[in-house]
Amino acid sequence: MSKKYQNFINGKWTDAASGKTFENRNPANWNEVVGLFPKSGKEEVEAAVKAARSAFESWRLVPAPKRGDILKKVGDIMTARKDEIATLMTREMGKVLLETRGDVQEGIDTAYYAASEGRRLFGHTVPSELPNKFNMAIRTPIGVAGIVTPWNFPMAIPTWKIFPALLCGNTVVFKPASDTPATATMLAEILMEAGIPEGVVNLVHGGGGEVGMAIVSHPEVDLVSFTGSTAIGKKISEVASQTLKRVSLELGGKNAQIVMDDANLSLALDGVLWGAFGTTGQRCTATSRLLLHEKVFDKFMSMLVDRTNKLRLGDGLLPTTEVGPCVNEGQRNTVQSYVEIGLKEGAKLAAGGKAATDGDLAKGWFHQPTIFTEVTPEMRIAKEEIFGPVLSVVRIKSLDEGINVLNNTIYGLSSSIYTNDVNAAFQAIRDVKAGITYINAPTIGAEAHMPFGGVKQTGNGHREGGWTVFEFFSEWKTVYVDYSGGLQRAQIDN
Ligand code: NAP
Repeated sequence: MSKKYQNFINGKWTDAASGKTFENRNPANWNEVVGLFPKSGKEEVEAAVKAARSAFESWRLVPAPKRGDILKKVGDIMTARKDEIATLMTREMGKVLLETRGDVQEGIDTAYYAASEGRRLFGHTVPSELPNKFNMAIRTPIGVAGIVTPWNFPMAIPTWKIFPALLCGNTVVFKPASDTPATATMLAEILMEAGIPEGVVNLVHGGGGEVGMAIVSHPEVDLVSFTGSTAIGKKISEVASQTLKRVSLELGGKNAQIVMDDANLSLALDGVLWGAFGTTGQRCTATSRLLLHEKVFDKFMSMLVDRTNKLRLGDGLLPTTEVGPCVNEGQRNTVQSYVEIGLKEGAKLAAGGKAATDGDLAKGWFHQPTIFTEVTPEMRIAKEEIFGPVLSVVRIKSLDEGINVLNNTIYGLSSSIYTNDVNAAFQAIRDVKAGITYINAPTIGAEAHMPFGGVKQTGNGHREGGWTVFEFFSEWKTVYVDYSGGLQRAQIDN
């Protein structure tokens, strides 16, 4: 009998009113059902928003350091349950245990960072232009935050959003991805155990088109924080604009690593393998393109193909596994269709190229780590997000060409350059159009206390992580205190 999970609305665990459920299966072993989840709709969203709206009136008055104390407890419980959460996450979305443990750790770091921010949450005091008058700008809570998240970081991404939202005094309606509802349920359990009051965090399971859309379009939801594909992000932006909500969009990427002729090649090799095939290439910051200097091309490619062919595919729960499955059948089909597109465009396969179906791999949605060479910047495999274990290699002659090719995409999330020339590194920092640039490190590896986000169609200008996320989840109030005892007129030529 599969475990049955529920929504968490107004402090109570409940089924969908319709009684309908959906299954969540293990991508490494499709026969295994991880759990059954309520297939919710508008009705459950309505109840969740109502609870969040009502809880907002008391939660906003809890002092920020006290809200922070609860988040500190959340971090402590997550630390105690780290292995349990990581194991469940690997079962529901396939990443290897080392990575799911890292995903949980990012949530823990975010909890402690947010907890400490409760005692900062700085405002500004500014001199008035008039005598006997005091000016300040303070941060205030906004209201109900709608949180919609993807499946590739099932704990880290929800915590990047929910913890700062709570710390700033907002309440939350949270819809996780349909591929990772179990990890999200564990997060709700932990928040409850740590003492988050009823109605402050509400979890509603169900499809994006139903539950997600109902949240985004709800007039009583004041702000929306979404991470997912650019296509859905555009829809959300359109719908949320009808009620002029504040919207943060963290969307797709087509990240590249440049390797210059003076680079430390073994370092660059470790970087590209981790960046391209870590999380089976299913990271928004995954290295999807390698821009390789012609002078080191042949040598580097032979090192890269050799190491790629040795990567061990398998169930992420096994200690020997280096690369897990694609998250579901649809995602593996997308990868396969891009392999066909690449071949039709004239690129050549240097490694992989097929679904991996040997032995136990046949039970899941595995795909061989795949490398294309003879890729030109105009090919679709060089410009479009694939979100799987596929690396497109473009030959470059110079740094300028590398930066031009890197920028030749609608996305602008992460980027990397391997070089020992400080001038080249600083030119890349200046000219690469991306929210994140790594020097001598792969395109993946964000730290929780640094701003995270991208330019162009990767987002709409907000940043998660670090101190910047608190900007999104709070509203500035400007306050003037006149203690002169008389009418003082500003902006009048006195
Ligand atoms: P997705 O299909 O856009 O889904 C993301 C979330 O939106 C899921 O919870 C989904 O629900 C929901 N959703 C789907 N349709 C919706 C609609 N019409 N209205 C409201 N919500 C809707 O993306 P994904 O496949 O889960 O994730 C992969 C994408 O996320 C990639 O493009 C990746 O680059 C991006 N990503 C970006 C970042 C970043 O920080 N920039 C980080 C991670 C991932 P269901 O699951 O029920 O469909």
